[in-house]
Amino acid sequence: MERAAAMRNLPIFLEMRDRPAIVVGGGVAAARRAEFLVRCGARVTAFAPELGEDFFEVRDRSNFRHVARDPAPNDFEGSQICFIATEDHRLQEAARKAAKAAGALVNVADQPRLCDFIMPSIVDRSPLVIAISTGGASPILGRMLRARLETIIPAAYGRMANLMSRFRERVAEAMPSQTMRRRFWETVLEGPIGEAALSGDERAAAAHLAREIEHVREHGDMTPRGEVYLVGAGPGDPDLVTFRALRLMQKADVVLYDRLIGEGVMNLVRREAERIYVGKRPEDHELPQEEIGALLVRLATEGKRVLRLKGGDPFMFGRGGEEIEALAAHGVPFQVCPGVTAAIGASAYAGIPLTHRDHAQACVFVTGHGKDGKIDLDWTALLQPRQTVAIYMGLRNLEALTKEFVVRGASADLPAAIVDNATRVNQKVVVGTLATLAAKARAAELRGPSILIVGTVVALRDKLDWYAPAAEDVAHAVPAGENGKD
Ligand code: SAH
Repeated sequence: MERAAAMRNLPIFLEMRDRPAIVVGGGVAAARRAEFLVRCGARVTAFAPELGEDFFEVRDRSNFRHVARDPAPNDFEGSQICFIATEDHRLQEAARKAAKAAGALVNVADQPRLCDFIMPSIVDRSPLVIAISTGGASPILGRMLRARLETIIPAAYGRMANLMSRFRERVAEAMPSQTMRRRFWETVLEGPIGEAALSGDERAAAAHLAREIEHVREHGDMTPRGEVYLVGAGPGDPDLVTFRALRLMQKADVVLYDRLIGEGVMNLVRREAERIYVGKRPEDHELPQEEIGALLVRLATEGKRVLRLKGGDPFMFGRGGEEIEALAAHGVPFQVCPGVTAAIGASAYAGIPLTHRDHAQACVFVTGHGKDGKIDLDWTALLQPRQTVAIYMGLRNLEALTKEFVVRGASADLPAAIVDNATRVNQKVVVGTLATLAAKARAAELRGPSILIVGTVVALRDKLDWYAPAAEDVAHAVPAGENGKD
């Protein structure tokens, strides 16, 4: 049998609260080390004739002290740990010798051979901390791994750990068997209580948890309960899905999706999840909102984790509010995860900023989908100067909409653009004026979904989307800033 490869270092976490620590040096590297020490409660003394600006984080902390000179040998007495971060080799050597003589563990920045210990890359979700070391083989690899962990471990994991530690004893009391406790915590962390903690609602999480413990005490088992995630998936480019959305997409037992959700995004949903299409097209009979609401309630009541995926942001013309009303009425736990709304995605990917100091100080979001075909908009509010108007669901009424702008007093030369299938590989941008846009859009045979942007900011596109050929009005999309080459 092959022997396990030798571990290069002993991974340990050192207790530093109220213990003396020394930093030698006044530059960035010294500042970072001082920061770590201060954060874990050590009594830190920094020796340096001068402290650089990077010390601003720690400078005024009560457990930080600056001595404005180089250290003398007896300065190290009693200190347990010493970071040397100076490029002055003589000082490095002298400080190291003195620190070792005082019995401290020493780390010399960028000199692995002179170190008693190394500084790992860390992911801090205190009280949960992950430390990564490559044993000096490749710090870059360590940092890359750290970046990956940062993205997959929700920032709020620490809150979850805090919550567990608060309730640990009560759970132990209510559940004598270890197997039962383990199962309890797994269910809690994976379910609505864990989600509440992760989304920042610690009070709700704690209240639910207390109730759940009581339930187990009385009934000997947990309440089976599903939940609903109302998640904004962004306008189409799967890269615009948030980390939180992705996590919820990966947990779902069943997903309800509609026409706005493209294949790229659907590919991110847990493969085993059951898929239910509740889509509607403008010309379809709309699936009544109440039916979707009732379906969400039924599935969640069966104990499932139900993902309701919405294009863009769930509360932006998405009827997200209506869908969760039913959930609230039935006491089904739910959470709402925001998404990049279509206008914001279109703006970035078409190189049209929605506000700009020289053009627009405001932007309004409206829907151009009139009830019974009639456009019902507050024109006084829309036609304010120095304001951009982003119109959702306006493609089918485009002709009438652009005409109405002019009838109501806007200049026929006012720049306007349509971004069709924004952020997707088939994005098209049509640029014109209120007078010309409808005809150009017709010629471009747009299929939707599209966003209409009206305002002088549209003229900035030539400057800001360097890929957009200035001479052409219809440009196939490449996100601003990418060069479109494979
Ligand atoms: N909740 C969604 C909007 C739903 S209303 C959001 O926040 O984006 C549907 C309208 O959104 C469409 O008619 C269209 O105007 C717009 N829309 C959605 N996705 C789009 C996309 N990828 N490109 C352009 N417009 C889009």
